[in-house]
Amino acid sequence: MGYLKLQTDMPEKFNFHLPVKVVFGNGRIKELKDFIPETISRILLVSEKNLSENTPVVRNVTDQLNGFDVKQFIDVEENPSFETVKRGGKLAREHKSQLIIGLGGGSPMDAAKGVAMCAVNQEPLSELIKIWRLPVDPLPVICIPTTSGTGSEVTPYAVFTDRNNLNKCGYANEKIFPLVALVDPELTFTMPQPVIANTGLDVLTHSIEAYLSMDATPISDLVAVESIQLVLKNLGLALEKEKEAMSKMAYASILGGIAITHGGTILIHIMGYPLTVYRNIPHGKANAIMLPSFLNFMREHSFVKEKVHFIDNLFREVGGVERFVNDLGISTNLSNYGIREEDIDEFVEKVIVKGDVKITPARITEKEIRDIYLAAMVG
Ligand code: NAP
Ligand code: ZN
Repeated sequence: MGYLKLQTDMPEKFNFHLPVKVVFGNGRIKELKDFIPETISRILLVSEKNLSENTPVVRNVTDQLNGFDVKQFIDVEENPSFETVKRGGKLAREHKSQLIIGLGGGSPMDAAKGVAMCAVNQEPLSELIKIWRLPVDPLPVICIPTTSGTGSEVTPYAVFTDRNNLNKCGYANEKIFPLVALVDPELTFTMPQPVIANTGLDVLTHSIEAYLSMDATPISDLVAVESIQLVLKNLGLALEKEKEAMSKMAYASILGGIAITHGGTILIHIMGYPLTVYRNIPHGKANAIMLPSFLNFMREHSFVKEKVHFIDNLFREVGGVERFVNDLGISTNLSNYGIREEDIDEFVEKVIVKGDVKITPARITEKEIRDIYLAAMVG
């Protein structure tokens, strides 16, 4: 596998900004205290019940926090809702927390970012996410991922679910970059196989989307391509619980997060959101289902055909994109998830209004989105 020569794509100007201290390595959770600022004594730990009750993960973290006043908020569900984050914010206010730790997959990490915003601002989260200049800066957040997927530990993004309107709402603000990303791959070793596959495919789509994005930069291209290659080599082995491969996936997830911090996600992610809110399909899996039909479309219609061709070549070595996803036990045919043609119009309405449409490198109207969904029904 080789790299795309980037010189010809060099833009006149670009930015790179990633103000997150990344701490990576097996067993490094034991160093957590070293990365907590000296002025902090009161901490809110945001996580989820299963990690607390059925894995040693939460205990591994609380064991490191002797001497601090720690309150736990372990109620975060998959795809956290505005209501959940609001409750966490109230708890943080009552506890007078000075730091929020987000421990878990993207759901607890994103919830931690929202809690950090709500703890110090009176406005409801649904209003805060419409504002770039927050009235009060959020509390600092330390992210400790237990899945290798979202990259939320290094991104200025959080995604919240509006359960009343069946909508996932992405929020971007430099103020929610975590202070520290403590990535200890050992914390991911308890992931069940479906979670390994789903979250690993999220890394893959982040990296592909950031690479193809109209906002891609030379640096995001480098990390995106490295991340894609790491996933193609390691996700199958990670599924067999091969520890070195799982560590490499934790690293690839950071790279995917850095890539989307600069390139953003494009059509795949926003087309995956309705599959999650209407059919409960996990986030990474929803993206992976859309990946083959999206790449088929991009091969013909994108403004960046050379990049699409480059990705095709990477997939060729693993039997093609569809085969790669299917071999992980995931069908890429939407019909197999109970989705029917008559559902598509409602999905399209939710997708077309999202900002990610504008950085997708092709002419995208309702028609194109519908066509890509319909193509995934016969895939
Ligand atoms: P998740 O919803 O955080 O976690 C999925 C499930 O994985 C958990 O409910 C838990 O399942 C299980 N789990 C996690 N870690 C485990 C471990 N170490 N051992 C055993 N089980 C474990 O999934 P995710 O894919 O990581 O995050 C998805 C969310 O992140 C979505 O809301 C998505 O929109 C968002 N996201 C955010 C960004 C960003 O930049 N901020 C980027 C992409 C996506 P059980 O409770 O059933 O055991
Ligand atoms: Zn994602």
